[in-house]
Amino acid sequence: VTDQSSSFIDLLIARVGAGTVRTDAVVVDDESHDEALGATAVTPRAVVAPERTEQVVDVLRTCTEHGVPVTARGTGSGLSGACIPPDGGVVVSFQRMNSILEIDEETHLTVVQPGVQLDQLDAALARIGLAYPVYPGEYSATIGGNVATNAGGMQAVKHGVTRHHVLGLELVLATGEVIRTGGRVVKASSGYDLTQLVIGSEGTLALVTEATLKLVPRPAFRATVLAPFPTLDEVASAVPQVIASGLAPSILEYIDMLTMAAIQREYSVELGVPSDVQATALAYLVVRMESDHDDRLDADVQAIAELLVKLGAVDVYVLPPHAAAQLIEAREKAFWIAKANGADDIVDIAVPRRTIPAFMAKAREIGDANGALIAGCGHAGDGNVHLAVFQRDPVARKRLMLELFAAGIDLGGVISGEHGIGTTKKPYFLELEDPTKVALMQRIKRAFDPRGILNPGKIFDLEDES
Ligand SMILES: Cc1cc2nc3c(=O)[nH]c(=O)nc-3n(C[C@H](O)[C@H](O)[C@H](O)COP(=O)(O)OP(=O)(O)OC[C@H]3O[C@@H](n4cnc5c(N)ncnc54)[C@H](O)[C@@H]3O)c2cc1C
Repeated sequence: VTDQSSSFIDLLIARVGAGTVRTDAVVVDDESHDEALGATAVTPRAVVAPERTEQVVDVLRTCTEHGVPVTARGTGSGLSGACIPPDGGVVVSFQRMNSILEIDEETHLTVVQPGVQLDQLDAALARIGLAYPVYPGEYSATIGGNVATNAGGMQAVKHGVTRHHVLGLELVLATGEVIRTGGRVVKASSGYDLTQLVIGSEGTLALVTEATLKLVPRPAFRATVLAPFPTLDEVASAVPQVIASGLAPSILEYIDMLTMAAIQREYSVELGVPSDVQATALAYLVVRMESDHDDRLDADVQAIAELLVKLGAVDVYVLPPHAAAQLIEAREKAFWIAKANGADDIVDIAVPRRTIPAFMAKAREIGDANGALIAGCGHAGDGNVHLAVFQRDPVARKRLMLELFAAGIDLGGVISGEHGIGTTKKPYFLELEDPTKVALMQRIKRAFDPRGILNPGKIFDLEDES
């Protein structure tokens, strides 16, 4: 049910203040989309930019009363269309709720508002030798967006993903009620874990207005090792063994030859790998080691280098700090390179680590059978492959995508490791996911949000909204 009358906007303005609401004439283009390839932009009917939780309460009360859909937005860096509102929907932009409320240096936690950006938090923590180690590739992303997508990133191989670092949340329910889940405790066995339920729910269950996050000491020393391999299969086979070695890299990424060539071209990264080695390498592993002790780091780097050679690396290069930083940054921007080169879709399937070689072989087979080029890189240490799919024909592409997702699931994997389902992966999710689980998720959604106003149409539809 959507209230189309202008009296709804008047009421909203009366409750939250004129300076907090912009209607469609002054909504900027950026607020109508995220970065998902192939998602259709929708201009919201209004953008509300609250400064306080009470204003979020007022928005949700008003929207529930009038049956108006509400979609939360961080910075719109998402890759699944999840922050795009449905027609007639209101966007709640959290960019003005961007304060770091507290950093507790003794117990290593921070309390932040949802609009705090990763780069903002990192700059504040760097000054005091701490880090929030979940560091997905787009540093403009917000903590609210990270919580709602259960964001991962390169360091997940060592530190885990967002859900491993969120201790507690303040949430506004669709009814306007405010609850606090979890808190500063490091453990809890007190009924259902609502914090974990909301993490990854893509703004469909509640709006996050505050998060309490675990921090770690910032490592003093780091080194980045680049290992070219003759084949992608050898890289894929090496990954589980690097993990099993117990050397605990903080980054373990693979980059295939096409992606590496594009990265070097676009970002002029100088890696010092001789051209004859580059000519034989079909894939690379990037391994970062960290330690609080210089000599321990040296020993770990030596050990990882020996292991990589034993596992088939052509050679091993410890990158100078500047080149290492450039390569990591360029790898994080691989999405933009794929997009600029005309990629038609991106997948972020996660499979059990030991099945990466089988999945990569299957992906190649599926690409060939559907006349597509598939190139990529990814969080190999997490079994999370980011593949750019080049296939212009939408029918062939849809078939290919379905086959790719099905292959991942057959190996015990999931459709999305970190980007979420949103709208772009919804058809595949609904076709391949266990219907009993989807029905349970729909009932949970109804329990949180009886009128179905919170980000409707994301992940799945409810019977009366498709
Ligand atoms: C170049 C590039 C690299 C990337 N690399 C990674 C990566 O390595 N790992 C990774 O996981 N992701 C990555 N991403 C994806 C993206 O950055 C993440 O999904 C991020 O978590 C989105 O945050 P955001 O603030 O932009 O959220 P948005 O895109 O604005 O929103 C994402 C979802 O969160 C919901 N939401 C936002 N704020 C709230 C709130 N306060 N309460 C409730 N729901 C809310 C929205 O409704 C939507 O469902 C990358 C994106 C780009 C463009």
